[in-house]
Amino acid sequence: MIVKKILTEITLKNEATDSAYGIFDHMEEAIEAAWIAQKELVKYSLECRGKFIAAMRAAARKNIELFSKMAVEETGMGRYEHKVMKNTVAIEKTPGIEDLKPDAVSGDHGLTVFELSPYGVIGAITPTTNPTETVICNAIGMIAAGNAVVFAPHPRAKNTSRKAIEILNQAIIEAGGPANLITAIKEPTIESANIMMQHKKIKMLVATGGPDVVRTVLSSGKKAIGAGAGNPPAVVDETADIEKAAKDIIDGCSFDNNLPCVAEKEVIVVDSVADYLIFNMQKHNAYLLSDENLIKKLEKLVFNDKGHLNRDLVGKDADYILRKIGVDCDPSIRAIIVETDKNHDFVQEELMMPILPIVRVKDVNEAIELAVEVEHGYRHTAIIHSKNIDNLSKMAKEIQTTIFVKNGPSYAGIGVGGEGYSTFTIAGPTGEGLTTAKSFTRSRRCVLVDGFSIR
Ligand code: NAD
Repeated sequence: MIVKKILTEITLKNEATDSAYGIFDHMEEAIEAAWIAQKELVKYSLECRGKFIAAMRAAARKNIELFSKMAVEETGMGRYEHKVMKNTVAIEKTPGIEDLKPDAVSGDHGLTVFELSPYGVIGAITPTTNPTETVICNAIGMIAAGNAVVFAPHPRAKNTSRKAIEILNQAIIEAGGPANLITAIKEPTIESANIMMQHKKIKMLVATGGPDVVRTVLSSGKKAIGAGAGNPPAVVDETADIEKAAKDIIDGCSFDNNLPCVAEKEVIVVDSVADYLIFNMQKHNAYLLSDENLIKKLEKLVFNDKGHLNRDLVGKDADYILRKIGVDCDPSIRAIIVETDKNHDFVQEELMMPILPIVRVKDVNEAIELAVEVEHGYRHTAIIHSKNIDNLSKMAKEIQTTIFVKNGPSYAGIGVGGEGYSTFTIAGPTGEGLTTAKSFTRSRRCVLVDGFSIR
């Protein structure tokens, strides 16, 4: 009785506070409220669920500019115009309830239906690099599948993620749905994320972020989806359309200042076309850094004495980074390109800034072998520019990445300019791939014996 009273108070308190849709002081409250909301959600028809998703998309659509502006201002990373594009695909191209297709078997002994049902309350941890895109994409997929979601946003993007959560919740309520299908706490921390992960009412965990958080959810003992880091190589062979490859690579690597996990992080090019590729990259606003002293300065800037990545440069503009090493350049410069050997930290580490190392190799076989090596087995994303079908197939087979883009910029792999739906949770480590609503369901078998087979 007492618990029920507290929970009712939580719901009422939250409904009454217009500015805090789904936002609570304590993790326990956020989880309880989402738990109640999920119980309500499954009482609604699928048609209603579809309406809630439509309302979420409409409300987010009205706030794309706000989300994009807040993300750049709060995190100090990325580019406004690219955040607008990323939010747009999250809103328009994340699958909804249509993704949940049942399966059936019928025969002499009746009819068996396989249905996709919700887990209940999902705990979702989101990155600083896509603070609203991941919230929008996860919320659409998880609610379409009949779940509620408690978000643990990155502390450095908490206000931006919170804004998206509030707006989506308000839209659901205005469409006649339950309050608190999406919740979070005011001051998210790593500690509060850990409380969430261990809570018994959280039935599934979805982590979108770097290796630490993926490792943490995978050792939680719960069903977990891990969408981790990448280090996408772009291979260019001698058969490629070099002018186009140069443009595509610079477009992809400079997209949101290289924050996306899918963005080109290094180029591996066959020696015979390397000079022409570099020449064409410069035509597309890449700055070639070739002075040895400046390269040394850049290395010292990007990695500290202990070899740790300088987080202050993550997602910064290329001209900002160049000015830090004393190079005055036009703000139209989108990327810094630098020739390195294959063991250079710029190649081996996921930098998430518009610095693109280029490694020359003698032929395509060496290029593919090196691409596999520097992808580090993340199985995330890889890109190739080639007109040779055998080379395209060989790399696809050998690199085994979740996303493999041929003859286009990396972002085509998440539905920006390429065919297919969009997602911001690409689950390589746990194998769900480009997650959608059905990734957030349990398959259940419902058997009617000796009936309803009408064959
Ligand atoms: P991050 O790993 O620093 O943080 C991600 C989230 O995990 C944040 O909410 C953070 O608070 C939380 N977190 C981190 N360590 C934790 C721990 N030990 N316990 C509990 N929570 C923890 O990553 P970031 O800088 O925000 O995002 C960039 C990283 O995410 C890159 O490595 C990028 O490749 C990856 N990423 C992957 C995908 C994908 O779909 N695979 C999408 C976006 C970003």
